[in-house]
This record gives sequence, structure tokens and C-alpha cells, in this order.
Amino acid sequence: MKPIALFCQHPQAQVWQEDIAALMSQAQLVAWPQVNPAVRYAIVWSPTQAFFDAHPHLELVFNMGAGVDALLKLRLPPKARLVRIEDGGMAVQMAEYVSHAVIRHFRELDVYAQTSAAAQWTQRRPRLRTEFPVGIMGLGVLGSRVAEAVRQFDFPVVGWSRNPREMEGVQCFHGEAQFGDFLAATRILVCMVPLTPQTRGILNHAHLSQLQAGGYVINVARGDHLVEEDLLALLASGHLAGATLDVTRTEPLPADHPLWQDPRVTITPHISAQTMVSVSIAQMVEKIAAAQRGETPDGVVDPVRGY
Ligand code: NAP
Repeated sequence: MKPIALFCQHPQAQVWQEDIAALMSQAQLVAWPQVNPAVRYAIVWSPTQAFFDAHPHLELVFNMGAGVDALLKLRLPPKARLVRIEDGGMAVQMAEYVSHAVIRHFRELDVYAQTSAAAQWTQRRPRLRTEFPVGIMGLGVLGSRVAEAVRQFDFPVVGWSRNPREMEGVQCFHGEAQFGDFLAATRILVCMVPLTPQTRGILNHAHLSQLQAGGYVINVARGDHLVEEDLLALLASGHLAGATLDVTRTEPLPADHPLWQDPRVTITPHISAQTMVSVSIAQMVEKIAAAQRGETPDGVVDPVRGY
């Protein structure tokens, strides 16, 4: 097996490195800051520009995560293609996180948490799920799994992607021209698109105003999709009923940020779907084996479209 360069800036970097070494026992691993300028393959998590500059002959760069927006800001060697993890144990986590957020909002479980804390036995009128259509922005590996999960609870589900898609039980919209129709058909919006020049700031006042009254926003993609001031303004006006945000523009979210203050906003620290090391490494071993057989591995990123 050809040598593989490793760059892993993660709290569990040591564990990851040991797992990679165990699963790729045939490979010679070159762990940054060690350098082998001739190396053709790299496995990375949050790499620096210096790492790429030191390995100018890289052909395939395997990212340990699904999102590649940060990597695409770096200057990769001329022949390097970026390969991302697909699913890698994250789809089921996204499905449970989003289903939980949708159900918590729909069943008013936050209200019951308050009445429970006050030792009050107060029943509320049941709500109609037909009045809570869920709109999934992005029907890729993660978004399609989320759509399928939410559908199991009989919510009406609509989806939006760049290209036309068909999914059983999901009314699909695509492209900029149909974005307005998608928003108008949505009350609970789930953001699952990658961060690209086209999607940065897409959750803004103009777009969120087009959600049905009492709209709810779930952002599990990237903090820069959401214009946080616009969300706060639409919560203040009453057009939006609340939000669950797993990602924020600044992470960690500063303690004095107004998003922490609004009880209708639930914040989690970017944990909706975490990379499962063993599953991801097993996937990467397969992708590298495919590359070494001269095949193109699945999950090659198109740098022009940005995902
Ligand atoms: P994916 O398989 O590449 O799917 C992306 C989807 O978004 C596709 O359906 C694509 O449309 C659609 N899309 C992209 N640009 C669009 C645009 N301009 N307009 C409309 N639709 C657009 O990605 P994935 O694996 O599902 O991951 C999605 C994102 O989740 C990642 O990029 C990452 O940012 C985020 N993520 C977050 C966490 C977390 O813990 N919070 C964890 C993992 C991933 P087409 O189908 O037409 O190509």
C-alpha cells in the first residue's frame, strides 16, 4: 500500500490515529508534522494550508466529515481531488435529532416541561399534524434519510434540492425558481444543504418570511446559512414560533449572545451528527482500496458546485 499522509486536528486525534493505523496495517502512515512530499493520498480533519503546501503531489484527499466548506477555502495541490464521508453513521443521528426537534415542537413538549416543573397537571388541545408540514432543504445523503424518518410520523413532507428528485411520499421542489413554492408549503424548515456561495445566508428575512405563519427553523447544516439577526426579528414579530439550532455563526456561541436568551430557541453545540470513527475509517479504507485499484471512489467533491 502506498504511504498515506494524516492530518487530524480533533480532540480525539490520538484515538483516530491509532484506529486508522490498526485498520490500515499495510499502509505506511505519515502523521503531520512528519512530511513525505511524494505522498499521493491524505486523510484529513481540519487541515492547514501548510499541510497541503508540504504535500504537493496529493491526488486524493479523504475528509473525515461530510461537510467540505472549510476545506474548499484552502489551496489544494493541482491534481488533488477531495473525497468526503457519505453517511458514515451520521444519517441515523440526523434522523433522530431532527425527528426529536420536530416532535418536541409539534407536541409542545417544552410547554409540558414547564408545567411539570411547576407541578401542574394541564392538558393542551392536540394539534393537527397536517398543519405542520416539514420542509427539508437538501435531499442528499443526510436530508433524504431525515425526510424518510419524519414521514414515518405522518407529517406532510416537502423537499428542495438543486436538481429534480423523486422521493416516495415527499413533494419535491428544486432550483431557485421553485424555492418560494417550497417555503410557502413549509411550516417546519430543516436546513440540510451544504454551505456554498449559493446557500450562505439563505435563511434570511426575505426567505424565512415566506414560511407559513408560526414557522419553526431547525438548522443542522452550518451556522453561516442563517442570518441570526433576521431569525431574532421574525421571532420578535411572532411570524416564527421558535428554532432549534445545532450550528451557529460563531462556535462556541458566546455566553452573552441573544440567541441564548430566547426560551423559544434551543441550542446544541454542533452535535446533531458526529463522525463515527470506526464507521468512517472503514469507509475510507474501502475508498482508498478503490483508488488503488485505479477506480474513482464514491463521494468525490465537485469544487465548482462546492459539495
Ligand atoms: P449531500 O449528500 O452532498 O447533499 C446535499 C444536498 O443539498 C443535495 O440534495 C443537493 O442537491 C442540495 N443542494 C446543494 N446546494 C443546493 C442549492 N444551491 N440549492 C438547492 N439544493 C442544494 O450532503 P449531506 O451528506 O446530506 O450533508 C449535508 C450537509 O450537512 C453537509 O454539507 C454539512 O454541512 C452538514 N452536516 C452537519 C453536521 C452537524 O453535525 N451539524 C454533520 C454532518 C453534516 P442535489 O441533490 O440536486 O445535488
